[in-house]
Amino acid sequence: MKVVEIRGYQLGFAPAPAIGNARTMIRRRDFMLVELVADTGARGWGEVFSSPAAAAALVRTRLSGLVLGASPHHHGRLYEVMLGTLGYDRRGPGMMAISALDMALHDLAAQDRGTSVAEMLGGALRGVLPAYASAPFITEAADPYGHYQAEVDAILRRGFRAVKPRAGVSPRADGAMALAMRRQVGPDVAIMVDINQGYTARAAIESARRMEEADLLWIEEPVQAEDIPGYAAISAAVPTAIAGGEALGSLAAFRDVLAAGAMSVLQPDLTVCGGYTGFLRIAALAAAYDLPVMPHVFGTVVNMRAALQAAALVPARRGGASAYPWIEYDASVNPLLDVAGALPVRPDGTMEVPVAPGTGLDLQAERLAPWVTETWRCNA
Ligand SMILES: [Mg+2]
Repeated sequence: MKVVEIRGYQLGFAPAPAIGNARTMIRRRDFMLVELVADTGARGWGEVFSSPAAAAALVRTRLSGLVLGASPHHHGRLYEVMLGTLGYDRRGPGMMAISALDMALHDLAAQDRGTSVAEMLGGALRGVLPAYASAPFITEAADPYGHYQAEVDAILRRGFRAVKPRAGVSPRADGAMALAMRRQVGPDVAIMVDINQGYTARAAIESARRMEEADLLWIEEPVQAEDIPGYAAISAAVPTAIAGGEALGSLAAFRDVLAAGAMSVLQPDLTVCGGYTGFLRIAALAAAYDLPVMPHVFGTVVNMRAALQAAALVPARRGGASAYPWIEYDASVNPLLDVAGALPVRPDGTMEVPVAPGTGLDLQAERLAPWVTETWRCNA
């Protein structure tokens, strides 16, 4: 099998109403999907989360020549060659470009073997994962949390047994929100809170203390992604697990986090940290510290399906109602999550890990048309 064409799809949509977090109101969500076409006619998919246009430029100008004509089964060698070609800082858009290609190469290689990616990478440790609804989001209303109760009711009706609301409005408001949510859902539904890098360490500690009685499973990204001393200070000051890592792109960044004892739960995103290859290296590093790793995922069905494969590969660790790893599910209105058919959440709040070849994705590119802003192709 050889890669004969790389197709890029830059996509986006405007959430209506806008969805917010502690740092920003998200009025537009942009993505890039990469489709690798093999000489067999098979197609493999990869994704970029944060900087689609910059990553697309790097794929087209720097990386496409390395992948075209190559065998997807050489994903390990190609990863090293791509990293070596970029040479400079191994994070940011360069790593995102590599991430998309690594994901698509794995998808193709697994399809060629007739197995799932998890099977190809050594075998899934589990066939189902507990899912958590990544929602509700902050709004621009006078009370940014005012809609949370109704939305959480709707989330529970969809089958979820875990919710991850956005927080970070103020420590006092966070505390009231989290305690009200715990009263609403009872003791058995997991609550995680995402602050999206919105606080200083001191504010995050105050917020964590005010939320403590809500029995949170974790507090996510309380401070800026690179503020390792801040994460370490929060982790030392409060009993709640501190999670993060979705914005970190390199193995070295995770090494620094781990060495500092800064986080208790790592959430690398396959579209940011180097695809499956980067994710599994981070997971190996975390295993040496006996810390749980789960994929962060907040994008299209491509990353969602890849995250299910990756989450099936990491060892279970205790923590809360269900053992880690959990799988994140973007519970906002996201048409690109359902573009190839909805991935169901089962009545017990879990999701199945697909066992079909690759990631089990059957995506015809024409389906993307309503959201495409730019397409491009690279040929051998
Ligand atoms: Mg997050």
